[in-house]
Amino acid sequence: MTNVYVRVAHNGSVHHAEVTGDTAVLYAGAPWSGGKPTGEKVTLAGGLADDRLRTPVTPSKILCVGRNYAAHAKELGNELPVEPMIFFKPPSSLVDPGAPVVLPDPSISEKIEHEAELAVVVGARLRDASEAEAAAAVFGYGVACDVTARDLQKKDGQWWRAKGMDTFCPLGPAIVRGVDVGDVRVRCLVNDAVKQDGRTKDMIFSIARVLSHVSRAMTLEPGDLVLTGTPEGVGPLVDGDRLVVDIEGVGRLETFVRGREAAR
Ligand code: ZN
Repeated sequence: MTNVYVRVAHNGSVHHAEVTGDTAVLYAGAPWSGGKPTGEKVTLAGGLADDRLRTPVTPSKILCVGRNYAAHAKELGNELPVEPMIFFKPPSSLVDPGAPVVLPDPSISEKIEHEAELAVVVGARLRDASEAEAAAAVFGYGVACDVTARDLQKKDGQWWRAKGMDTFCPLGPAIVRGVDVGDVRVRCLVNDAVKQDGRTKDMIFSIARVLSHVSRAMTLEPGDLVLTGTPEGVGPLVDGDRLVVDIEGVGRLETFVRGREAAR
């Protein structure tokens, strides 16, 4: 059985909710932190495209795996990592479903790229966890795009803004639980053209390995988010692009790209 969770704005506040069809049952608290249904229902006229949906998780941190697909490491001329290569995106880079990715001023960066990624939501506190403990602590999965300023990634050394600018982490519209993501298709489409088309079985480091590795350095909390790396085919995003990330069995993220002036 698959469960689908969102956050929805309703009566002046934002609530966690579980969605079936066009009905959202509100929760008291996050489901990954033990929140339970209140019984109150909200009808989502737009289903998972409803404009009242907000980013489905509010993590304390977002960790990402670099070069976790061999073909992607190769396309950027990088060696394969010998252990998971981890970096951060700040929670402030999340953007609500349906809201645009806003490009930085061209004087800062002129090379913004898409990276389609399966996102993992942590469902239990993890510290010094084994891979088995880490696997058991996965709550569910989401669809994300690790938007990247490729020129700044080289120029800055640290990736704080190459990966971390506002709106550089579209996620959603939902988190799904109860799906097997061991071998599912991960695609990125820009203006309906398929740019990335990979499979999660080609990850170098498994989700369990990544979570275990991270937990040996820092405590993972329920609701923390881990982006698991991108398959080959990364490429540019420009003003006006329609961006879709589609992950088999997990969902479809649909957003668009705006220049800074257009977004004002
Ligand atoms: Zn990435």
